[in-house]
Amino acid sequence: MKYENIDFLASVGVRHLPLSVTQSSIIEELVEQHGSPLLLLDCQVVREQYQLLKHALPNVTLHFALKPLPHDVVVKTLLQEGASFDLASNGEVDMVKRQGVHPKNTIHTHPIKRDSDIQHAMAYGCTRFVIDGLNELEKFLPYKDKVELLLRLSFPNADAFADLSKKFGCNVDSAMDILRKAQELGVIINGLSFHVGSQTQDAKRYVFAIERCIELIKKVKVENLPRISNLDIGGGFPIAYDNDEFNIIEFCAPIRKALANVDKTIKLIAEPGRFIVGPAVMSVASVMGQAMRSGKPWYYLDDGVYGSFSGILFDHGDYPIDALHNQGPKVASVLAGPTCDSIDVIDENIMLPKLKDGDLIITRMMGAYTSATATEFNFFKKANIVALNE
Ligand SMILES: *Cc1c(COP(=O)(O)O)cnc(C)c1O
Repeated sequence: MKYENIDFLASVGVRHLPLSVTQSSIIEELVEQHGSPLLLLDCQVVREQYQLLKHALPNVTLHFALKPLPHDVVVKTLLQEGASFDLASNGEVDMVKRQGVHPKNTIHTHPIKRDSDIQHAMAYGCTRFVIDGLNELEKFLPYKDKVELLLRLSFPNADAFADLSKKFGCNVDSAMDILRKAQELGVIINGLSFHVGSQTQDAKRYVFAIERCIELIKKVKVENLPRISNLDIGGGFPIAYDNDEFNIIEFCAPIRKALANVDKTIKLIAEPGRFIVGPAVMSVASVMGQAMRSGKPWYYLDDGVYGSFSGILFDHGDYPIDALHNQGPKVASVLAGPTCDSIDVIDENIMLPKLKDGDLIITRMMGAYTSATATEFNFFKKANIVALNE
């Protein structure tokens, strides 16, 4: 069955408001129909987030990074909006291929690849790849007439949820050497890329990186190396886990200003992941059982840290959690997951009304790095994803 015009997450800016009686009863119906735990994926929010970021970053082609929520419906929804895609693995290549994404609208951004990974992406038709060092550059020698490469630079950012510059990217000082070597080998590097870190709180990170890239592009020109015609500013765009005031258009203002100084003939690319899908999913879990321990109520849910709440461990996630019916006096409570492991505690101190077994807990902003990193430890099944407003 199709769910249309269902609005739990509402439009931009009111996602943390309490649910109406009608909205709550629809959630209960969905659980009756599909079981618990569930992840409700609102395609309308996916569309809104994509369009919002497009407004925040005009003249930038947005390649959705599949990693935070690799799901067919998300790809299909974004494809209908005209999005491009950012791929990092063979499974992601297969997913966009299955949805009929044209390979010219994709870029493969994993800096480290096996030859078989390169071949798999090329068999699909993807011809744009990212490298970050000489070892990886040489892997493209056999394909040098068929591919264009981007060089990934590293800009450390200890404040981000995930500082990706520790693991990938070359430092700016060694970039020229790699670009010279590429020219010598006849492999075309015609782009620069970076990822300032996921859930980046400060737009200055992007500005700094863009400025360094502009300097590098000038050096490339002076040395007559192949022209840099692509600048990829990566992902990392943040979402508001705890307030509705955050405004991405304002957040991106310094980025827009920095990009205005990039030569107009250079094609601009970004690779948003979290921003597109984070707010689009609500998790629904049920109380399986409960206990009083040291005077505090413990509620055991059918979803936990080994499941949809894996982002607590892997992504430093701090999600807005609430009881579906949250009336009545609240006491400090513990929410735990279903597995027999003690690490499986979602929140050790959350204000909740008295709950019965079977009561529902809803959590918003659960679209990014949740289900994607969930396991089925202890044979507790991953939450089903139910798509709304397809
Ligand atoms: C994970 C990742 C992204 C998406 O990052 P977000 O922080 O979710 O926007 C984009 N590009 C690359 C190369 C990535 O590894």
